[in-house]
Amino acid sequence: MGKTLFSPFFQHPRPTLPVRPVARKPGAYVRLRACFHNCHRLPFLLKVIPRDQHCISRKHISDSALKVMSRLRGKGYQAFLVGGAVRDLLLGGHPKDFDVATEATPEEVHALFRNSRIIGRRFRIVHVRFGREIIEVTTFRGHHENSTEQPGQDGGNQARQSASGRLLRDNVYGSLEEDAVRRDLTVNALYYDSGTFEVYDHVHGMQDLERRSVCIIGDPEQRYREDPVRMLRVLRFAAKLDFAIDAETARAIPACAHLLADIPAARLFDEFLKLFLAGHAAITLDKLLEYRMLHYLFPETAECLHRDDTALALVRAAMASTDRRIADDKPVTPAFILAALLWPVVQREAQHLEQRGDPPMVAMHSAAQQTIAAAAHHISIPRRFSQPMREIWEFQLRLQRRQGRRAAELVEHRRFRAAYDFLLLREAAGEDTEGIGSWWTEFQELPPEERLKQAGSASEGKPGHGRRRRPRTRRSNART
Ligand code: ATP
Ligand code: MG
Repeated sequence: MGKTLFSPFFQHPRPTLPVRPVARKPGAYVRLRACFHNCHRLPFLLKVIPRDQHCISRKHISDSALKVMSRLRGKGYQAFLVGGAVRDLLLGGHPKDFDVATEATPEEVHALFRNSRIIGRRFRIVHVRFGREIIEVTTFRGHHENSTEQPGQDGGNQARQSASGRLLRDNVYGSLEEDAVRRDLTVNALYYDSGTFEVYDHVHGMQDLERRSVCIIGDPEQRYREDPVRMLRVLRFAAKLDFAIDAETARAIPACAHLLADIPAARLFDEFLKLFLAGHAAITLDKLLEYRMLHYLFPETAECLHRDDTALALVRAAMASTDRRIADDKPVTPAFILAALLWPVVQREAQHLEQRGDPPMVAMHSAAQQTIAAAAHHISIPRRFSQPMREIWEFQLRLQRRQGRRAAELVEHRRFRAAYDFLLLREAAGEDTEGIGSWWTEFQELPPEERLKQAGSASEGKPGHGRRRRPRTRRSNART
């Protein structure tokens, strides 16, 4: 064997994976691909793809990321662009953020950048801030048998695993090639060297980008045991990239799905945001249902959606509407998606309480409390989202009453727009709301003075054509 791939670039003396000469001739990549089609069974080989054989250009990379890599290289550390940025650039897209991987430890990175801080405990990384942009710098992760420190110690080079094999901490540092195989998916383990303009591929990531396949690195079951969230990531990237899921990557999911039950609720909430607020919520939902994984995020919703077509249509419509808003660059809130996901549950519970004799608003209020408390066992929902979600639900009752003055006030309420949109989704999904959606559509389009003119008049039909109502003598239970 001639010169190894690693020799010119790596300061680590001992590559842990088999190495081969650099495949620099055009076409060499394709030949290798034919030999190593199964990333789970065969050894990984490093391929270096030269500048003229890939489409990444520095002009599409954030200046801040380039600066970070150049400073690290200048101090003698290897530093690469990695992860989603390389993947998305190779696919011709615009990365949403730029992550850097380096051999420098978090402390060394921090010492080089005054505008940085070390974050995380389970997985220590450095955030380097440039105005509003944050460049996430991770130190190459290594194999755990290389760990020299005692488990449980804080800071530094350490790892900890649960009895089921879940990585509770992953701060063992290593070499580039070790880092590559510790990443989740082959297409997420490509490295771009902004000094030489080369792409480094240890795990057939380029091949999988070409095949449009989401493939976990290594033995799927073991990788899911180490971190069950990787199963959600598989589905998320399959949805986002419109890729197929590699057969072995998919096959291991049913046997491992239950491991998600051990993931802390706060981490599942972070993952929930990535699943549903990245512009591909509708297709992600279908994948979660197909692989029966929604069950681990929202068990009661999953159960409703599998047997109730109206509930499924509502949740799908909410996802599609969120995706459209993101595509149109409009703001979106997790509260709306949460309101839709938990609506079938809260509605069922409220109906149950009403049948027991509670007035509708009281029933909705208690049902909301119970639904949120039950959901929080699986996924934490911060109050800044649970409160507006609850208001959207309670508003559904308030929108049923269309007295003029009350209606005029509701239109001005800060939650009106979200609640009205939610009402329209319910109607589109086939819920029977007696057509109040179109009444509100017309009413809100009236000039404000017209709306107020109707104060005191009942308006159960077309706006402006209602009968007069007896003045109210007591406040309703409805909370404003
Ligand atoms: P995007 O940011 O577009 O959602 P991404 O691939 O950059 O996609 P991140 O969550 O930002 O995803 O993670 C950055 C990289 O870190 C990933 O590309 C992957 O290489 C690695 N990574 C993230 N989460 C895991 C995990 N649970 N296990 C192994 N590697 C991971
Ligand atoms: Mg990223």
